[in-house]
Amino acid sequence: MNGHDETFNNESPESGSNTFDYNERLNELQLINDILIETYQVEDTDRICKLVGEAVHKLNKDCYVIVSLYDSSINAVRIRAAPGLEGITEKVAGIPDRGLEDVSFRPKDMELNPQLFKSGKLEHFKDGLYALLAKKVPYYSCKQIEKNLNIGSIQVIGFSNEKNIFGGISILVPEGQKVHYVSAIETITAHVSKKIQAIWTERALHEAENRFEILFQQAPLSYHSLDENGYFIDVNNTWLETLGYSYEEVIGKCFKDFLTPEDAEKFKNNLDKFNSHGEIHGVEYEAVRKDGKRINIVIDGKIAYNEDGSFKQTHCAFKDITAQKKAERKALENEKLLRSMIDAITEYAFLMEPDGTIVQINESTAKKLNTTSQKCIGCNIYDLLPEKIMSSRKQKFDTVLAEGKALKFEDMNEGNYFQHNFYPVYDYSNQISHIAVFSMDITEYKTNVKKLKWELDVNRSLAELADALIDPNNSIETIANIVLSASKELTGSDHGYVSSIDPETGDNVCHTLTRMMESCSINENDKKISFPRGPDGLYTKLFGHALNTKKGFYINSPEMHPGSGGAPEGHIKLNNFLSFPAVVGNELMGQISLANSNQGYSDSEFEAIRKVAAIYALAIQQKRASIEIQHIDTILKSTFESTVDGIFVVDNNHKILFSNSKFVKMWRIPEALANMKNYDELLSFYSDQVKCSKEYLSKIQALYHSKETNTYYIYFKDGRVFESLSTPLMNNGIIKGRVWSFRDVTEKAEAEKALIDAKIHAEEANRTKNEFLATVSHELRTPLNSVIGYSDMLLAQIFGPLNERQLRYLKNISRSGNHLLNLINDILDISRIESRDISLSFEIVHVADIFEDVKNIATPFATSKNISVEFSAEPADLNIYADKIKFKQILYNLVNNALKFTPENGHIEVVANKSGNTIRISVGDDGIGIPEDKQQIIFEPFKQVDSSLSRMYGGSGLGLTIVKNLVEMHSGEIKVKSEVTKGSTFTIILPVKEK
Ligand code: ADP
Repeated sequence: MNGHDETFNNESPESGSNTFDYNERLNELQLINDILIETYQVEDTDRICKLVGEAVHKLNKDCYVIVSLYDSSINAVRIRAAPGLEGITEKVAGIPDRGLEDVSFRPKDMELNPQLFKSGKLEHFKDGLYALLAKKVPYYSCKQIEKNLNIGSIQVIGFSNEKNIFGGISILVPEGQKVHYVSAIETITAHVSKKIQAIWTERALHEAENRFEILFQQAPLSYHSLDENGYFIDVNNTWLETLGYSYEEVIGKCFKDFLTPEDAEKFKNNLDKFNSHGEIHGVEYEAVRKDGKRINIVIDGKIAYNEDGSFKQTHCAFKDITAQKKAERKALENEKLLRSMIDAITEYAFLMEPDGTIVQINESTAKKLNTTSQKCIGCNIYDLLPEKIMSSRKQKFDTVLAEGKALKFEDMNEGNYFQHNFYPVYDYSNQISHIAVFSMDITEYKTNVKKLKWELDVNRSLAELADALIDPNNSIETIANIVLSASKELTGSDHGYVSSIDPETGDNVCHTLTRMMESCSINENDKKISFPRGPDGLYTKLFGHALNTKKGFYINSPEMHPGSGGAPEGHIKLNNFLSFPAVVGNELMGQISLANSNQGYSDSEFEAIRKVAAIYALAIQQKRASIEIQHIDTILKSTFESTVDGIFVVDNNHKILFSNSKFVKMWRIPEALANMKNYDELLSFYSDQVKCSKEYLSKIQALYHSKETNTYYIYFKDGRVFESLSTPLMNNGIIKGRVWSFRDVTEKAEAEKALIDAKIHAEEANRTKNEFLATVSHELRTPLNSVIGYSDMLLAQIFGPLNERQLRYLKNISRSGNHLLNLINDILDISRIESRDISLSFEIVHVADIFEDVKNIATPFATSKNISVEFSAEPADLNIYADKIKFKQILYNLVNNALKFTPENGHIEVVANKSGNTIRISVGDDGIGIPEDKQQIIFEPFKQVDSSLSRMYGGSGLGLTIVKNLVEMHSGEIKVKSEVTKGSTFTIILPVKEK
C-alpha cells in the first residue's frame, strides 16, 4: 500500500491460543459485560474512548493502547485516549508538552488501507507508529518510542459502520508479547462502534431538530398551521412578529379573526376551496395587525392528511407584501399621474416604446398629427410623423437609444421655433423601455428673448448715455455728439443730427451732423445749421415735423411724407427717417433725427430713441440750469462783494461755505488765516477782539441749529460797534448752517447816543416848560378873573354911568382879558395833554344832543356875521362812545374856527354819519380856505396860516393842536380838505366803539 512494504498479519488473535482457558473466557465475558454496562449510560464519546482504552489496557497490561475517534468539528481523526503511554512521548522521544490526545489526522494521512479498520478484526500493523501518528510526530521520534518501548508490532482494530471508519484502537505490542482477549476486544469494539454510531445519530437528529426549529421559527416566511375549520394549531415567530401578537393570543383563534371584515368573508369561501383542492397558491388577504395597521399578505398552503386519509392540519406560509402592494398602487397612481400629466401638458408630449409604438400621447400632439389621442395609442410614430421631419426625428430617437441620455434640441418648422426634449425611460433591469418626448413651441419665448436682449442693449446704452450726459464738464455740443453716436448705434442708422432749440430765438440749432451733406454744395461752416421757424411759427419740412407736433415719428418711405423734399442739393437720399423732439414738460429742448437704417425703422427703434430723447432733453435742461446757476452764482458773489456788510456763511459742520472780502477786512483777519478757512481758528481770532468774548462765543454757539433770526450788537475792545444779523441757512425746512452779516455801526451808534441824550434833555426841558406853564397859567388866571369880572361889572354901569371913552376902554380891557383867559386855558389844556395829565371818561353820547349844545353856543357869533349853520346826523339818533365834554370841545373848536374864517353871509354845515365801522363828523365852511402847504402845519401848536402881527383873525394857534390830541385820545384821526377862497372841511373819523 502506498509503496510501504507493510505486511498484514491476518492471523486471528485467538489463533495464537490453542487452549481454551475457561477462566480467561469468563474473565473476558465479564470484562465485555462491564464495559458494555459502563458505556451503556455514557453519552460522551470521549469518555467511551477512555473507558474502552482502559479496558483494553487492563486486558493487555504489557501493551500500550491508543484510541482514536473522528471529530466532526475538525473533520479529522483525533487521539482520544492512550492508556499506558501517558507522558511516554516526552520521556522517550523528548517532545515536551505534547500529549498524544492533541494529535489528530485525517484518515488519508494515515495511508492505511481502510479495509484494515473495517474488518472488525485486530490487524497487525508492522511499521505502524509513524504511520499511525500520521507523521505528526517525527519519524525518528516514533522510532525512538518504538525502540525504547521495545515495540514488536502494532495491532489495530477500527470503529466503523458499513460505510465509514471513524476511529480505532491501536495496541502497541512489545517484543515477545501478544495481544490477549482478542475476541473480547473485537466484541467491545463492535459494541462501542455501534454505541458511538448511536450517539452520533442521536446527536445528528437532535441537531436536525434544532435546525428545523430555528428554521421554522426564524424563517423569513410567516408560517401557520390551521385545523379543518381554520383555527390555529401552530404559528412561527415570524408570523407573530408580522402581526404583532403573542403565541397565546393566536392559538385557538380562527384565521379570519386576523383579517379585515371584507377578507374574513373571502376566507370562508377560500377555506372550502382549500379543503377540496388540498392546496392553495398566491391567495391574497388584507390582515389586521394588533396595532390596527393593515398589511397585505399572500398565502401558499398545503393540507397534511393522516394515514387514513383524513384531514390532519394545514401548513401555510404567507409573505407580507404590503410594500409590494404599495409599490403596485404607487405604480398605478404614477401611471395615472403620468397620463393626466401628459394630458395636462398644453405642449406636445408623448411616450413611445423604442420601436416607435405610442404608449401615451396628449391631445395637442395627436391634433398636430391630424388624429386623436385614442387613435394614436398603439400606432407607430413613424407612420404618423410628416415626411419632411421623419428622418431627422428618427436620427434623434436613435441617438437617445444609443447614448441612453436625454437629448435637448431646438429646430424651426413652418416659421415657428420648437424646443424638443427626448428622455430615455429605464425599466427595473436598467434597459430603456420608453422614450418620453416633450416639444414646445418657443416662438414667443424666442421673440421675447430677442426683445429683452434688445431692451437690455438699449438700457445699457441709456445708462452709459445718462452717465455721460450728467457730466457737468460736457458742453451741449459734446452731449449732442454722444447722443448722436448712441442713437445711430441703437438704430443702425447711417445718418442723423442732434440739435437744441435756442431758447432766445427758438431756432433749431444743429450741433452735430453726420456727413449727410458730404457732397452738398454748401460750405463747411454752414453745415452747422440753425433752422429758424417760418413766419407761421412752425419749423419747416420733414425735419420740423417732430418739433411742430412735439411727437416723434418714423417713416420708411420718406418721399411719401407731406413735408418731404426741399433738402439742399447734394444732400444724401433719405431711405427712411426717424425723428424725436426732446421735450421737458411742454418746452421744446432739441431734436434727434436719424436716417437710413439698413433694415428700416420699427417700433423698437422708435421706443429706444424716445428714451434717448427724454434723457437728452433732461441733459439740455440740466446744462442750461447749471449755466444759469453759474450765472446766478457770479451775480450773488459780486453782489456780496459790493455790499457794505461783511458776510460769512458756515454749515452745521462748521465748514466755511462763503465769506466776502468785506468780512475779512472788517474783522481785520490776516490773509493767511482767511485762506485757511478754519472756522475754529477764525472764531478764536475774532472773539479775542470783542468785549465779553466768552458771552459772545456762547451766544454764537447757541444760535447754531436754531431757527431764530437774531440781531445784536458786538462791542469791540477798541470801541468799534458791529451790528450783527444772523439767520439760519435753510434748505427744504432743514437747518443746514447759519448766515452771519456784520455792519460797522460805530458812527451810527455814536450818533444814536447823541440823539438819545438830546431826547432825554429835550424831554426834561419840556417837562420843566409844562410845569412852568401850568404854574404861570394858574398864577395868571386868578388876577385875570378879577380884571374881567370888575371890568364887566363896570361895563354893566351898576356903579353909575360911564362916558363914551370909558366904555370903549373898558370894553377893550374886558375883550383882552377874555382873550388872555382863553389863551391861558388853551395853554393849560395843551400842557395837560402833553404831560398825560388828562383822562377821559367815556360814555354813550347822543350826537344830536352835542350838536344842540354847540349850536346854542355858536348862534350869537353866527348871527353877528349872518352865517347860517346847519347840523344834521344820519341816522338821527346816532350815538358815539366818547368823553362828552371833550367831544363837545372838539366840535366847538372846529365850528368856532369855521365861523371865524368865514366871511359874513357864509354857510357852515356840520354833518355826522356812520359807515361800516367808522363814524365821520365833518365841519365844512365856504370861508377863506387854507393853502395846501399849510394844511398839515396848522395842527402844530401856535401855527397859523397868517402868523403876522397884523393878522385880522384872533386866536392862539392852539385850538387845532388840542382838537387833534383829543381826537387821537378817542382813537380817531382828523383830516382837512381845503381850497383857498372856496372853503375848508375838517373831518373827524372815529371808530365805532360800542359799550
Ligand atoms: P386859532 O384859530 O386860534 O388861530 P387854531 O389852531 O384853531 O388857532 O387854527 C390855526 C390856524 O388854522 C388858524 O389861525 C387859521 O389860519 C387856520 N384855520 C383853522 N380853521 C380854519 C378854517 N375853518 N378856515 C380857514 N383857516 C382856518
